[in-house]
Amino acid sequence: MLKEFTCIICPNGCEIEAEIENDIIQSMTGAACPKGENYVRQEITDPQRNIATSVLVKGGNLPLVSVRLTNPIPKAEIFRAMEEIKKVTVYAPVKAGTILIKGILGYNSDVIVTKNVE
Ligand code: SF4
Repeated sequence: MLKEFTCIICPNGCEIEAEIENDIIQSMTGAACPKGENYVRQEITDPQRNIATSVLVKGGNLPLVSVRLTNPIPKAEIFRAMEEIKKVTVYAPVKAGTILIKGILGYNSDVIVTKNVE
């Protein structure tokens, strides 16, 4: 079966076509570098995603601050991770790089602030 993927590893966004039989890649075209092939292999076996969202700030010059994960987590866990992140409120001032949740859902991925709020 021919499957199409858009590589999300870098801004090039290569369109990759892979011929897959029984979860085994028979051939692949369209990746401009080996990272794209690795991405497709990961997508087939254990898809991972990062999260970029925001959390509430109390007492700051902005009502929200942007956050992201330090490492991607399984795609199937994104909804549960978002529920955990939604529970967080920070108090200004807050600095970029501050860890808000260490090891979210037990994964090797922290939720960190990506912006300063005075
Ligand atoms: S295949 Fe390589 S060049 Fe293309 S989007 Fe992925 S990482 Fe970027």
